[in-house]
Amino acid sequence: MTDAIVADGLRKAYDETVALDGVSFAVGEADVFALIGPNGAGKTTLVRALTGTVDPDAGTAELLGSSPAAASKERLGVLPQSFSPPARLSAREVVSYYAGLYDDPRDVDEILAEVGVEESADTWYENLSGGQQRRVCLGATLVNDPDVLFLDEPTTGIDPAGRRTLWDRIETLAAGGTTVLLTTHDMAEAERLADRVGLLSGGELAAVGTPQELVRAHGGDRGVTVTVDGDVEAAADALTDWATRTTGNRVILDGVDPQAIGEVVAALDDAGTSYTELAWAEPDLEDVYLSLTGEAFEGREAVPVDPAAD
Ligand code: ADP
Repeated sequence: MTDAIVADGLRKAYDETVALDGVSFAVGEADVFALIGPNGAGKTTLVRALTGTVDPDAGTAELLGSSPAAASKERLGVLPQSFSPPARLSAREVVSYYAGLYDDPRDVDEILAEVGVEESADTWYENLSGGQQRRVCLGATLVNDPDVLFLDEPTTGIDPAGRRTLWDRIETLAAGGTTVLLTTHDMAEAERLADRVGLLSGGELAAVGTPQELVRAHGGDRGVTVTVDGDVEAAADALTDWATRTTGNRVILDGVDPQAIGEVVAALDDAGTSYTELAWAEPDLEDVYLSLTGEAFEGREAVPVDPAAD
């Protein structure tokens, strides 16, 4: 399969700040690639280099077989993070405006139906919900039936229902052959949509692969965590059948399958250990992100691990 997007050794510095430090990867046609990474990691600079609005200092970018600047704009769709159409245009007028920029645009009402805002087609943009607004913006990027779509944080700030609807649209587009490169802070979004994920950190691609490959390589072990109400070391000593480590008031049993939870509970009960929570967890992309960037996501607690306790 031909690659729709190729980055080869991309490097870009702004004075002393190295935004991209030798980034190489490729996205196959009709694949969805999610770019994740902390703020300042270089995601926007990378997207701009790939869409031809930033000139790299070194390396090459290729879009649909040519340099991004030379790539046909007719075949490209870009949804920037801060895309705000005039507030007092209706959804239909917003999409029609963008359709007017192309010689042979798609039918506007068909696009409105595709992004699920046909019933609000005559509502002013400012009166639409956040999710509807973002879908109208997505619709505006579809007027030229692009082969490659760049979506910069497509669902940030949107409620869960609106997010799922947008995910459905993006999945449908990819199933129809559109190549999608999206940036996101939402690991569930990356896990659900992306065929492959690239984690950018400090201008470098720290890891790239399918979500499953990344979780296997960097997610850590699946296992059981027991939050102890009392002496944590005594609780760990009670769990002699498993390799344990302790952190704070928790005992962690790495690599324990969910089927073994009953035995863990029995061992804790036999020892008279009091605990407030017992949870089994399988590592996911958030664990990958945490282990490679050292940053936890909002709402997720970073659990400091004492290596000496191993
Ligand atoms: P991200 O999108 O991952 O937050 P960016 O690509 O925006 O990262 O930024 C990467 C680094 O480059 C940051 O340190 C940022 O401050 C810097 N940077 C980005 N654009 C510019 C610019 N136009 N001028 C100077 N520094 C910039």
